[in-house]
Amino acid sequence: MDLDKISKLAEEAENEVAELCSGLVKFNSAHPDGYTDEAVAFIKKYLDEHGVENEVHASDPKKPNIVARVKGKGEKKVLWVGHLDVVPEGKPENWTYPPYSGTIADGCVWGRGSSDMKGACTAAMVSARILNEMKDVPNTVEFWFTADEEIGGGAGARWLAETGRFKGDVCVIGDGNGGGPDAPSIDLGCKGGAGVKLVARGQTAHGSTPYLGDNAIKKLIAGIPWVEKINDYPLDFPEDLKPAILDSIEYYRKTQDLTPDQEKLMAHNFYTPSVTCNIINGGVKTNVIPDYAEAQFDIRLTPGSHQLRVVQHIKKHVKDSGIKGLEVEHRDLKPEDTAGFSETPNTSFAHQFKDIIHEITGKPVNTKILTGGTDGISTSRIAGIPSLGYGTSLTGQAHQPNERITIENLVLGVKIYTAFSLIYK
Ligand SMILES: [Zn+2]
Repeated sequence: MDLDKISKLAEEAENEVAELCSGLVKFNSAHPDGYTDEAVAFIKKYLDEHGVENEVHASDPKKPNIVARVKGKGEKKVLWVGHLDVVPEGKPENWTYPPYSGTIADGCVWGRGSSDMKGACTAAMVSARILNEMKDVPNTVEFWFTADEEIGGGAGARWLAETGRFKGDVCVIGDGNGGGPDAPSIDLGCKGGAGVKLVARGQTAHGSTPYLGDNAIKKLIAGIPWVEKINDYPLDFPEDLKPAILDSIEYYRKTQDLTPDQEKLMAHNFYTPSVTCNIINGGVKTNVIPDYAEAQFDIRLTPGSHQLRVVQHIKKHVKDSGIKGLEVEHRDLKPEDTAGFSETPNTSFAHQFKDIIHEITGKPVNTKILTGGTDGISTSRIAGIPSLGYGTSLTGQAHQPNERITIENLVLGVKIYTAFSLIYK
């Protein structure tokens, strides 16, 4: 493979990839709807125009997925997976440019989803086009663009994996933050969730007669710190993950601008669950004592940790609180279930992936575990395909206002996704 030629083709596609990213950002695919039909139609049009074989796969017509395929001479098949759905934009006034404007300014494409992860999707689209224009590529390559990643992959990667549609030798996950040209890194895996809901039940009464009521909100507030105690519970992830965890801590320390306290918590939460209470509901009227209130917690575990043990420990804490009427709800978990996914760093796949990124960037390539979840959980755990991540996202952009991506990162993504598809053996 001629790496200089790939680099040149990617650099020549700078405007193309920026315009595609801007175009894709303009389709609002935010949850709770999370509709990907317009984004998929946009990708299909581009692929059709360039003669790239493609298929739409949908379990929900409003949430289709699309695959672009370039057939190779050999037997090997490389998958690339990225998602088209995004999280809500939050308050519009927090955005310099409207969240779905796809504005191109200051060397960046701006808007919800630019970093997480429509940018990487457009880099993959251009890679598919470039590979398709080459004669005799060695590997078959499939670029999958999915729905529902932000809510667990129900109509997207999880469904595609469960129905046997993902088939391949290795899979590149385009989600996450690959550190750009300066601090390149690949993802060995990602944390997984063990979210719980704390429910408080009491006795309703008129607001003027507190002695007759039993206020569920009051109990809920008292119960929350008992759930949060899980922040210090030692996780039971496999020993052989320890070097990757040390690398991850080092990576986040270097690339995120953290205060000493933030740094301490970041490192701590690779060994213990991270826990945040992010939704509270309760109460119906100012003059009614509520008999029901609930709090939802996002709890993230280092890959390989047993989720049920964590949930049972939370239940124990809540019981220890002695507060009556509290209950911990969670999804069905089997004792053997473990969180997230991770690959070992010593496979031929990992070496080839790191080496090509090193060749392209000229920098040492770090390995890390992503704190957020990705479609890699489905490709690795359900479809059984070794999955490593390299994302084009900028640090600290995902799920934030003023989300953006540098055009430089998009071009780098085109280079890496194209070159790896060609060199993998
Ligand atoms: Zn993402």
